[in-house]
Amino acid sequence: MTAATPAASVAQQALELFRTNRFSAPSAPSPGVWAAPGRVNVIGEHTDYNEGFAAPMAIDRYTAVAAAPRSDGLLRLVSAAGAFRESVAEVPLRALSPGTPPGWVSYPAGVAWALLDVGVLDGGSFGGADLAFASTVPVGAGLSSSAAIECATGLALAGLAGADLPPALLARLAQQAENAYVGVPCGPLDQLCAAFGVAGCVLFIDTRSGEVTPYPFDLPAAGLTLLVIDTKVHHDLGASGYPDRRAACERAARQLGVPALRDLTVAELGRAERELDERTARRVRHVVTENERVLEFVSLLAAGDLSGTRLRAVGRLLTASHVSLRDDFEVSSPELDSVVDAALRGGAYGARMTGGGFGGSAIALTAQDRTAAVAAAVLSALPAADIFPAVPATSAHRVC
Ligand code: ADP
Ligand code: MG
Repeated sequence: MTAATPAASVAQQALELFRTNRFSAPSAPSPGVWAAPGRVNVIGEHTDYNEGFAAPMAIDRYTAVAAAPRSDGLLRLVSAAGAFRESVAEVPLRALSPGTPPGWVSYPAGVAWALLDVGVLDGGSFGGADLAFASTVPVGAGLSSSAAIECATGLALAGLAGADLPPALLARLAQQAENAYVGVPCGPLDQLCAAFGVAGCVLFIDTRSGEVTPYPFDLPAAGLTLLVIDTKVHHDLGASGYPDRRAACERAARQLGVPALRDLTVAELGRAERELDERTARRVRHVVTENERVLEFVSLLAAGDLSGTRLRAVGRLLTASHVSLRDDFEVSSPELDSVVDAALRGGAYGARMTGGGFGGSAIALTAQDRTAAVAAAVLSALPAADIFPAVPATSAHRVC
């Protein structure tokens, strides 16, 4: 098991990277540091682009950026994340255009582009920035390192320019960057979670209205542990699988004559089965039943302490979500199925894949005193898995 690193220590790493690269002239202002969290989606998967419900929590793993202003119209960027080899990228602000440059730089560059586009950054006066990133969010593991780097960048650039960037606008522009600049058709879930996370709480998100309501989810107080299980396996299918699923849902809504699958109830699933082909009907059934599970989950949280029958009911909802994602939506993977089964055998109350799927991470909700047994069961099923506990953490913020 690896320990979680809080924002303060990853902020220090970002500052060190900033200094190692001798970013900014000695006379330039000293850098500030901003951080944004990764997330675990506790329940409500593949519902956000169907205008449905989700209940994620920001986790105590952060991407931090040390940032200082420039005056020559350049963005200079460097990241400590392993795959990116700490080489410095330079992007002139006037060259910002969707898709360029490709690769990791497009995430922060896309955020600068989105902020300039809506005038949060003033194109006439904003002179660029030096940005050095460090992160404890596993990259590409379904824990939303992408929203973390976007939201950290957004707050940093607005902060350097002295501009106001309320959480709803931060989330919207970060999603805009990922959709229109990077070219990933994600829904709003990840960015809303990074922008609105509350320590000790899960967020109930109505993605149609954009309303975010925190519900207390104090795991340690309830004697519970939420284990994150990074399978370290990513299937190529994910690149086409996600847009395929999204397109299938949008097509099904059109065929059924509803604005979005959010508007379909469980009672109407029979009609969906009659009017759609068998596979599309299963996709629809996942989305409709998953929305129901999110509503049940938050009503259980609202009803009182997480213990006894309520806790067991929460566990069953998590596992039912996994089964639905595996069988109806078909976005799980053999590794995810195997760690979920192992966690349940090890005594977890519930377990499910989290994030878009096709590999990535699972979560398991367990009693604190069963954590070691659950982790051991998971490791015997998938020795390469990285397992760590996560608690609900705070949103994107300025660290120093
Ligand atoms: P996830 O959001 O689940 O981690 P994504 O595929 O959506 O996976 O986003 C991962 C991509 O985001 C990386 O491949 C990289 O391009 C970019 N990224 C995320 N975090 C960092 C980081 N700390 N440094 C550089 N690039 C990052
Ligand atoms: Mg992502």
